[in-house]
Amino acid sequence: MKGRQRKSSDYRAPRTSCPLCGSAGIGPRYRIARYARPFTVDRCAACGFMFMNPIFSEKTIQELYAREYYTGEADYSYQDERAIEPFAMHVWRARMKRISRWAPPGNFLDVGAAFGGLMKAAARHFTPYGIELSEYSGKHALSLFPGRVHIGTLENHPFEAGFFSAITMIELIEHLPDPATAVAECFRLLGPGGLLVVQTANMEGRQARVLGDRYEYFMPGHLSYFSMENLTGLLKRCGFARVKVFYPVEFGLVPKLRKSRQAFRTFADYRAWLRISWYHAKSKVRCGRFAMTSSMVVFAMKPGPSGDE
Ligand SMILES: [Zn+2]
Repeated sequence: MKGRQRKSSDYRAPRTSCPLCGSAGIGPRYRIARYARPFTVDRCAACGFMFMNPIFSEKTIQELYAREYYTGEADYSYQDERAIEPFAMHVWRARMKRISRWAPPGNFLDVGAAFGGLMKAAARHFTPYGIELSEYSGKHALSLFPGRVHIGTLENHPFEAGFFSAITMIELIEHLPDPATAVAECFRLLGPGGLLVVQTANMEGRQARVLGDRYEYFMPGHLSYFSMENLTGLLKRCGFARVKVFYPVEFGLVPKLRKSRQAFRTFADYRAWLRISWYHAKSKVRCGRFAMTSSMVVFAMKPGPSGDE
């Protein structure tokens, strides 16, 4: 695919207003040209939301998540988590332990379940379900959890309103062309007191602002770029009563260090622990809207049965 020319059929018609707040005050912020398919990121002056505009066509997006996405053969790819599962499991277990303290017991949904790794960790606390767009990874998750993985999206799933106690969107919301509808759907799917967990980059973090268009988060699969402020604003508008932001993540440093060992080959590789620890510490530095790094995880609680939470 390298060297391919830009074709108008690769893109949809451009948006003329902000997909998050509806304001017409949008304009190009960054031109990302380092991929085979270049794209432009617009910014809304009213709410600060950034989004790919025009976005890729449905067909182009499907192609991004084919087998090549997981095998590193595409110029935009995701590591096949099965190869690093024993290491990644440290993070998944820590995450699910924290979630189990916040959410009532019951059914759990991972939107963007990939190969079902987080679902495995969730099984200790909940009955896990998944939604996965990619057939390649979704079929694997389905083989682990027969009947509990929907290969598709939040727009065409079979689940009933109020069915879930907890829903996770881990590094998923940035892939969606219409994140506001997705968050509203998660709210509908949660029962009273249910918890929604969203992990995505905070584009107002100093890390993102300093790097500008060089920030690695700008990639062809990422259509929506939030800030802490406009993401928490969206969650509240959708009806979530209590919203808490964790920097950089909702669990401690140790599971991250244990996960990082998957890439270590020699003793010298442990020097990476200094870098990871420094990043973790830096991420704690924040004041109001200011944050040093772009890492954040947001917990949002649906009001409980009595209307409080
Ligand atoms: Zn806006």
